[in-house]
Amino acid sequence: MSSSLSWIETDLDALAHNVATFRARIGSERRLMIVVKANAYGHGIAEVGLAACRFGADWLGVFTLDEALCLRSAGVTAPILVFGPVPVASAPLAAAGEIRLTVPSPEYLEALLASGVSGLSVHAKVETGTNRQGLFPRDLACLTALAGHPRVTLEGLYTHFADIEDTTEHQFAETQLERFRSATTHLAEQGLRPPLLHTACTAAALLFEETYFNMVRVGIGAYGLWPSKETRVSATRLGVDPVNLRPLMTWKTRISQIKTLEPGEYVGYGRTWRARRLTRLAILPVGYANGYDRGLSNHSHVLVRGQRAPLCGRVMMNMCAVDVTDLPDALAGDEVVLLGRQGEECIPADMLAGWLGTINYEVVTRAEPFGPRICVGGNETDVTGSCNP
Ligand SMILES: *Cc1c(COP(=O)(O)O)cnc(C)c1O
Repeated sequence: MSSSLSWIETDLDALAHNVATFRARIGSERRLMIVVKANAYGHGIAEVGLAACRFGADWLGVFTLDEALCLRSAGVTAPILVFGPVPVASAPLAAAGEIRLTVPSPEYLEALLASGVSGLSVHAKVETGTNRQGLFPRDLACLTALAGHPRVTLEGLYTHFADIEDTTEHQFAETQLERFRSATTHLAEQGLRPPLLHTACTAAALLFEETYFNMVRVGIGAYGLWPSKETRVSATRLGVDPVNLRPLMTWKTRISQIKTLEPGEYVGYGRTWRARRLTRLAILPVGYANGYDRGLSNHSHVLVRGQRAPLCGRVMMNMCAVDVTDLPDALAGDEVVLLGRQGEECIPADMLAGWLGTINYEVVTRAEPFGPRICVGGNETDVTGSCNP
């Protein structure tokens, strides 16, 4: 039993299943990168990183150099690519850890080469229409500086789709793919043939084999979640093999106190909830500071004794309250599920996301930033401690 007030359980058997699902989809000759940025989408970066490699991931993807260093200190030996910006002054740290950096602009490449860093491998990001990071076609010429370079190796070329999961119409993704292909052709004409070409995120991996090239970068799908409803609809329309992804996350807390309210009593800030009957109210030590969004006030349910209990009043900074009048067995100390399954009932990340008008990605990445990640399944014994990048 955890001494924390709220914690995340990460199901490593589900991770093994999802990794195997994507491996089966892309085949054994292509590389499978599991994306573990943002604390493995809230699931625990060190735990998920180590386990994913054990289950057959070839590469890990992160956003920051600190995340990559955290994985190295946790014992990950697989190649790691950093998507986000890394100060040139830190490039030697990356080189020493065999951590690959992204080249997002000609200026960055120039500074990197001028720094004299050596033994570094980089992946150039091509701007194909997402317009956040990457080299425009007119900038690609800067990469010729890497042809036969003694200290910095151009190991990969990649891009990222803007709306492949947002729509069932994929013309823009096709345009981006076309721009990526022409970038590779253009570079080949200059004698540059980076060995690793990659464009696919989860939605692309689920829908379009032509996006695979020789590496696929899977984030949300590894955590057992579909990127969107549109991706599900597209999968059905395109008739791709149905996949059964298994969610990893269960977010838990315990009832800290139960009190009985007379009819007419109010609950919480703003007195937005009022008892219409004699009410058993359970207080939970989780609030918006723990990532339980204030937008769920008076709106969501949690699971107690395998049943739904509705929220009463506003979500507070570190507390919220639920109505357990109809669950007379509920007691202080009972385990409560805020997200995930308990018995026959389930509160999926997609349901919380729907209530909040956001996406499952945001719900899981913001879940309980302070509490521990506790791994279940996957031969629990050989999963080591965490770190906080
Ligand atoms: C986050 C990210 C991914 C993973 O996307 P999912 O939709 O979660 O699979 C892949 N590539 C890049 C560059 C990313 O930033």
